[in-house]
Amino acid sequence: MGLMDGKNVVIFGVANKRSIAWGIAEALQREGAKLAFSYQNERMQGALEKLVAELPEKPFMAPCDVTVEGDIDRFYEALGKEWDGVDGIVHSIAFAKREELGGNFRDTSWEGYALAQQVSAWSLIGLVKGGMKLMEGRDASVVCLSYYGAEKVVTNYNVMGVAKAALESSTRYLANDVGPHGVRVNAISAGPIKTVSAMGVGDFGTLLDSMAQKAPLRRNVDQMDVGNTAAFLLSPLSNGITGQVLYVDAGYSILGI
Ligand code: NAD
Repeated sequence: MGLMDGKNVVIFGVANKRSIAWGIAEALQREGAKLAFSYQNERMQGALEKLVAELPEKPFMAPCDVTVEGDIDRFYEALGKEWDGVDGIVHSIAFAKREELGGNFRDTSWEGYALAQQVSAWSLIGLVKGGMKLMEGRDASVVCLSYYGAEKVVTNYNVMGVAKAALESSTRYLANDVGPHGVRVNAISAGPIKTVSAMGVGDFGTLLDSMAQKAPLRRNVDQMDVGNTAAFLLSPLSNGITGQVLYVDAGYSILGI
C-alpha cells in the first residue's frame, strides 16, 4: 500500500529528468498517486513525453504557460473532463531573466521584477484559484518550492529572492484563505540542486560547494530528498500542517556563524 493510493496529483514544472518536479513525480508514482502534468509550451512537450513514457500508465498532459492569459483555466477545464477531482497540486515553476540573477541588485528592472513575480510567485495564487473547483471537499494539498534566498541575502539570487519571499508569504495567505475548504498549502525550501533553472543563477557551483561543506549533514540534497518530503506534504500523514515552509536543505538554514 502506498501513501498516495487513490490520490490525483497535478504537477506543474517538469522540464527534464533533472527537474525537482520530476523527483516529486517519481516519489508520488512510487506511493501510488495518479499523475497529471503541464508543460510550458510545445517546445517542452517532447521532452516531457519521453520522460512520462517511463511511467506504467499514460498520464494526462496539457500546456500551461502561466504568463498566457487563459492558459490556467484551459488546463483545468481539460483536466476536469478526464478527472473527477484533484487531491494535490505541485507548483514547481520559477523564472527570472538571466541578467538579473547576478550583478547589482539595484539594477533590477521593473519589467524583470514583474516577470519574476508573475511566473514565480503570482502563479501559485493562479494555480490554486484555478484548481479550487476540482479540489473542493477532497482534503487536498498544495506544495510549492522555495529557497533560502527568500529570507537571507544569497549572492546573485537577487530578484528571485524577492519573488521567493512573495511565494512564501502567498503560501501563508493562501493557506488561511482556502483552509476552510479543506485545502492545505505548504512550501518546501530546498537546498541548491543542479537543474536548468538553477544554472541560470550566477556562480551556482559555489552555492553547491558551500552547502556540502557547511551543512550539518555535510552533503547536498537531491531531487529525491525533496520528492519524498513533497509526498509527505501531499499525503494524509501531514493533515494537520498548513501554511508552513519546510526546509529540505541538509540543515543549512539552522546555521549562524
Ligand atoms: P527546472 O528548470 O527544471 O524547472 C523550472 C520549471 O519552471 C520548468 O519546467 C519550466 O518550464 C517552468 N516554467 C518557467 N516559466 C514558466 C511559465 N511561464 N509557465 C509555466 N511554467 C514555467 O528547475 P528546478 O530547479 O527544478 O525548479 C523548480 C522549482 O524549484 C522552482 O520554483 C525553483 O525556484 C525551485 N527551487 C530550485 C532549487 C534549485 O537549486 N534547483 C532550490 C530551491 C527551490
